Amino acid sequence: MPASASPWLHHAVARIEADYQRSADTHLIALPLPGFARHGIDLYLKDESTHPTGSLKHRLARSLFLYALCNGWLHEHSTVIEASSGSTAVSEAYFARLLGLPFVAVMAKSTSSEKIAQIEFYGGRCLLVDSAAGIHDAARAEAARTGGHFMDQFLYAERATDWRGNNNIAESLFSQMARERHPIPRWVVVGAGTGGTSATLGRYIRYRRHFTQVLVPDPEGSVFAPYHRSGDTTLTASGSKIEGIGRPRVEASFIRSLIDRMAQVPDKTSVAAMRLLSQRLGRRVGPSTGTNFAGMLMLAEEMRAAGEQGAIVSLLCDSGERYLQSYHSKRWIEEHFGDCAAEEAALRATIEH
Ligand SMILES: *Cc1c(COP(=O)(O)O)cnc(C)c1O
Repeated sequence: MPASASPWLHHAVARIEADYQRSADTHLIALPLPGFARHGIDLYLKDESTHPTGSLKHRLARSLFLYALCNGWLHEHSTVIEASSGSTAVSEAYFARLLGLPFVAVMAKSTSSEKIAQIEFYGGRCLLVDSAAGIHDAARAEAARTGGHFMDQFLYAERATDWRGNNNIAESLFSQMARERHPIPRWVVVGAGTGGTSATLGRYIRYRRHFTQVLVPDPEGSVFAPYHRSGDTTLTASGSKIEGIGRPRVEASFIRSLIDRMAQVPDKTSVAAMRLLSQRLGRRVGPSTGTNFAGMLMLAEEMRAAGEQGAIVSLLCDSGERYLQSYHSKRWIEEHFGDCAAEEAALRATIEH
């Protein structure tokens, strides 16, 4: 019997496909900002927090599992291991449970307690290491110890996704814009953790021959912005304080040629933008969505000053409910970032212009 005919493999792929069939697409939220709309500039956020596992990583986890299954890398009793800043591990724990496979998340000690609780809720085990820089080696060691499979999102994210379509995030986003006054966005703004989302969007834009450009807003301490400038893959950095985006080393899934522009966003600006957006929406958003919003406002301000009209689209990557003890705690923010009031006032002035 060929390996492709394994009844377990058939069953596993069918379980994931059935789960996909049951799922609904995520909403594209039109952000009402009169100070920009008056000038013909419209902002949108695709709400990726509404996936069953609460973030855009639900898409990645599904793709990584299908990729690993169809490569013959997973078997009936495989332990699945991932190195993660949290969100990917939450989503992968969900899919591992769907397939009845044990799951181990290797994460930095600093990962939010809410995310650890969610991974454990889905039956996953958390292996905490001292710093984000150590998670890959620890994941490889755990895979060797258990005879399991290291998913390696930072290597495979860009290639596991069907970038031309199959309702990926890019195809979905562009089709949801179809009836807007500016149906083809001028800019797509997306932060990079693995770089997978920016790669899918960049390829799709070229494939569809859209004039849309991709801006990646990068947090302090991330290597991606300096790497984008120089192309030097050996660069390292101290690491990001914005959970989910920014990396201390250049990741293979971050495809530099697909990104038109990068902006370095100060952490206090990300926090301020997260708060301002949460107020505007009437619901809390996560910190990487704050970084995205800061990037959107920077572009909107530039367009307004230049008399340019168009749409700017970004992602609501995850909900702020995951960060009640951290980024949405006043005391925690004071301890980790200091006072962000001046940044918040500056952003507020931008949108109330
Ligand atoms: C992973 C992640 C991102 C970045 O997406 P990538 O496709 O990995 O670059 C942004 N925000 C959050 C909350 C994430 O978990």
